[in-house]
Amino acid sequence: MSLPAGLYWSEQGERACQDHTPYPGSDSWRSGRWAPVPAVAMPELARTHGADAVLCETCAAKARNESNASKGRVRPRKVTQ
Ligand SMILES: [Zn+2]
Repeated sequence: MSLPAGLYWSEQGERACQDHTPYPGSDSWRSGRWAPVPAVAMPELARTHGADAVLCETCAAKARNESNASKGRVRPRKVTQ
């Protein structure tokens, strides 16, 4: 089962994209009461909690790590075939 693309949140205030939520229907999915963040809630969320509040926490952490790791280095070129 795959989720539509977008941002999801749990009752505990965790945020995740469709790739980083708990598996839909799993115990953690249900106990966290994961649900899509309504598009109308996004601006309010960003205003009250900052721009990071509308990002997947996992993706944001990865992006931070990657930008630190790649400091002063040339990014490897993507191999396309
Ligand atoms: Zn993510």
